[in-house]
Amino acid sequence: MKRTPIVELSDCVLCELCTDLCPKVFVINTNDYVQVMELDTYPEPEVDEVIKNCPADCITWEEQP
Ligand code: SF4
Repeated sequence: MKRTPIVELSDCVLCELCTDLCPKVFVINTNDYVQVMELDTYPEPEVDEVIKNCPADCITWEEQP
């Protein structure tokens, strides 16, 4: 089971907490949106910490078989 973080962009307030805490996974792209990097595996504890602290509560895990 692959788990990928997903950002609901319509709720994101661009506070940049995710890009500060976990820059390997979350970046601000050239359109000024948060983008999740394509990785084979994601550092779950770090992403969970970001999910817990995101002020807009707009990051979730998506599970793929
Ligand atoms: S922490 Fe949440 S609200 Fe802040 S930039 Fe990241 S996704 Fe957007």
